[in-house]
Amino acid sequence: MTKTSRRSWRSAPVKRLPRAVRLVPDETLRSYLARLAKANHLKSDDLRLHLAPDLTPTSRTAHTWLESLAIASGASIDVLCYALPELRDQHPALHLLSLRGRTIAGKPNTLGFACRRCMAARGIFTPVERWTRHEHNVCVRHQLWIGRGLVQADAQFSVAALPEIVRAQSWHLRLLRRHGRSWVYRAFLDADMIRSRWMAYKLWHTVAERRQRALTTQPLWRGHPATHAALYPEVVGLTSLLASIYWRQRTLTDDVHELDRFYAAVHSRVVPDYQPTGYRDHLVRWISDQRKLYDLAGLLDLVHTDTPRETIESTPWKA
Ligand SMILES: [Zn+2]
Repeated sequence: MTKTSRRSWRSAPVKRLPRAVRLVPDETLRSYLARLAKANHLKSDDLRLHLAPDLTPTSRTAHTWLESLAIASGASIDVLCYALPELRDQHPALHLLSLRGRTIAGKPNTLGFACRRCMAARGIFTPVERWTRHEHNVCVRHQLWIGRGLVQADAQFSVAALPEIVRAQSWHLRLLRRHGRSWVYRAFLDADMIRSRWMAYKLWHTVAERRQRALTTQPLWRGHPATHAALYPEVVGLTSLLASIYWRQRTLTDDVHELDRFYAAVHSRVVPDYQPTGYRDHLVRWISDQRKLYDLAGLLDLVHTDTPRETIESTPWKA
């Protein structure tokens, strides 16, 4: 396409493009537009200007995208809004869509990439950027790490040699079903912070270092995708305790035997060589902070330890 014809095409009325591309749930708008442009041998910027010719780059609204994108792609407005979360706010009858439980664009979700092997199986061979929930870390079917720390799709790596990481993904999903997403999300953030502090002090490193060596030559390093993968079974194991009312109650009573039972559960579910270790142990600090919060709120006296004991699941590193 020459410069002149490109300019006139940009300002022409929007028509259906010759080639459609398959929609992927939770894909970002820029990713979908890039795939649609590539399939039709267009530049992404040209396609954007064609869909919204009268607006400046900073003022192109999703509303304009939605109507013109439906024409250009051949997909209905409803179908586009279900698949592409960024477009939903501009739907003319949003209340009629069934959006409960669907992934939203923005926090607490983050940008990530769909499993490249799952995409290839659907005939999609370019990276698919999508809005990712905190529990989306491993493609269980392909045993690929697709989650935290990754900044590009082709950096996804196999965790097949470490099946406990794949099992941790399944365990994570079970926790969501049992306790609900928002509660597990908060417990996961706390567990991740505690495990990261342990790493900073090189506490209970043995198992995590072995996993890291199986994945990369790099040492354990916060933010590195291999480190996220190496620590994932322990973070999920700790999440299971922090999300459990039964185990939380053990940390809030004055009965030292109950607290010892909690620490024994950390030993069995999280790190096999765990022992509470003074001020450097961020789990000890976390428990102390929780007790202060309950005390300030006047709730400490209301804590009972008679909640029925939940089923003890196998630890993620065990077969
Ligand atoms: Zn996959």
